[in-house]
Amino acid sequence: MEGMLREKACAITGGSRGIGLAIVELFARQGGRVFYLSRNEAEDPARLERAAAEGGGSVKWLRCDVSDEGQAQAAVDAVAAEAGSIDALVNNAGMARDGLFLRMSLADWDAVLRANLTSAFLVSRAAARHMIKKRSGSIVNMSSVVGLVGNGGQANYAASKAGLVGFTKSLARELSSRNVRVNAIAPGFIDTAMTEAIPAQARDKLKDSIPLGRSGKPEEVAAAALFLCSELSSYVTGEVLKVDGGMGM
Ligand code: NAP
Repeated sequence: MEGMLREKACAITGGSRGIGLAIVELFARQGGRVFYLSRNEAEDPARLERAAAEGGGSVKWLRCDVSDEGQAQAAVDAVAAEAGSIDALVNNAGMARDGLFLRMSLADWDAVLRANLTSAFLVSRAAARHMIKKRSGSIVNMSSVVGLVGNGGQANYAASKAGLVGFTKSLARELSSRNVRVNAIAPGFIDTAMTEAIPAQARDKLKDSIPLGRSGKPEEVAAAALFLCSELSSYVTGEVLKVDGGMGM
């Protein structure tokens, strides 16, 4: 299918690499007016321009630390000022700072909660105002299978991702009367810089636990984001869609 996001203003947080980058590329290829919010620009902006040109969309980078209230508000305002509205928001930005619970510092706890959960609150609050005015919109939060089943060594990360599930469902209830849908995606083990940081032995063990027998690709998560941000999911809200090869069954 082509042009699924034609003329739609889409904001993606953390679009500079990994899953976010794949979402930016796919949304632009589907005709979206895509704005991505991250601290760094994507390594190969020309690739994104090409995708946009082929699909009739556009791509623009906005430098933004989404865990900062002022920056998050300013970036969302900039998107709305340029595009006239915000139709879709994907809260994808995230980080991990793993460690055993008993040795976890408050700084590592706070940093992960702030980057993964508070950022979604800040950007969604800014964007939802525009969606409510328009009586339409879709918000997608990037949770994780780890937020559903937990993981040793990731208490901070799992708490942030579980928090996103509660956040998603609460927002879905609060905004549904204004025709704003809110859903989450829970990826399993996806090949990105984030999972490259896991030691090879632990990575292999994790892959062995996946029923489909392989890790996922960022593009496979992007496809789920496209579904949730398009009219194909017009009757779906408050849902957590696992994209995990069966890992979290
Ligand atoms: P990644 O390759 O490390 O990319 C993370 C992205 O988040 C980057 O674009 C980074 O951009 C951005 N980011 C981080 N902190 C930010 C901040 N304060 N402000 C703005 N942007 C920020 O990770 P990934 O694997 O693609 O993960 C993307 C999302 O999927 C994350 O939320 C992650 O938790 C989730 N997830 C990933 C997996 C997996 O297996 N990979 C599984 C489940 C869930 P800058 O550094 O340029 O700011």
